[in-house]
Amino acid sequence: MVISIIVPCLNEAGNIKILYKDLVKSISNLGFDMDLIFINDGSTDGTLDEIKSICEEDGHTRYISFTRNFGQQAALLAGLRAAKGDAVIMMDADLQHPVELIPLLLNKWQEGYDIVNTRRIQTCGISFFKNWSSILFYFFTNKLTEINIKNGEADFKLLGRRVVDVIKDCEEYHLFIRGLLKWTGFKETSVDYVACLRYSGKTKYTLTKMFRLSLDGITSFSVRPLRLSLIFAFICLFVTFAELAHLLYITFCNNEEIPGWSIVFILISSVGTMILFVLGLLGEYLGRIFLQSKGRPHYVISSTNF
Ligand code: UDP
Ligand code: MG
Repeated sequence: MVISIIVPCLNEAGNIKILYKDLVKSISNLGFDMDLIFINDGSTDGTLDEIKSICEEDGHTRYISFTRNFGQQAALLAGLRAAKGDAVIMMDADLQHPVELIPLLLNKWQEGYDIVNTRRIQTCGISFFKNWSSILFYFFTNKLTEINIKNGEADFKLLGRRVVDVIKDCEEYHLFIRGLLKWTGFKETSVDYVACLRYSGKTKYTLTKMFRLSLDGITSFSVRPLRLSLIFAFICLFVTFAELAHLLYITFCNNEEIPGWSIVFILISSVGTMILFVLGLLGEYLGRIFLQSKGRPHYVISSTNF
């Protein structure tokens, strides 16, 4: 049987050779053939050269190189489309995903699970900022969509062939593979692991990228945020009635005059904020419909060795 391993890489020159050696060591005595595919997602360091030198030494290793950075989700899609394996493992290039877990993932797959998720229960030495941005990412994505992704369940997964065949034909422009996998409904399980620190280089997931991925997840799986406008409308209505009652009370019961400008100011600013917020949300969905309607491919390939 063949196991494909797909590894998206953005500026990972310092990690790739070590990952390759670790993978060869851990897969060689498991009795599977390894179909390793590196996807170079527009790296500007020596990543592509490192990948090419591995491919020259080992004729079985393949690579796909994009013309520019198209994002990790697009790189994973390219890998899934190229993979020939009976099962496919997606993992990061930075050695944060322990190769020692692969035998366990394969065991679970052989027990009959189509999707074997991994869940990072702890990351050694993680920064306070990274930890909290990750917690908030899962919290908001889960709260605002109908899908439920556990905290720490990222893209380190094993997928059976049936799952890969469904995902690789998905045509949505804003890909959120974790969400799509839940949506397929295939039988899944999960194994926990402790992630180590990145071996070399810096994280590619800045706050803006995390925010964009979360927004892609939310907007491609739910129209719930659109309903926020209705909730805001009810809140506005409540505030208006309360204010009206207050005005009537102080005018008729206390015979007092109230400073009119303060109420006008508060009302204008609060209503303005709500309208802008809802318009912004509508814009997000509209923008996505706009991009999807163009039907552009997810990535452009500049070179491969197959
Ligand atoms: N990556 C990619 N394209 C991107 C961002 C990231 O191919 O635009 C790759 C990156 O090289 C790594 C994986 O996706 O192999 C996960 O990225 P990273 O380790 O920076 O994310 P983190 O683990 O910090 O969330
Ligand atoms: Mg990482």
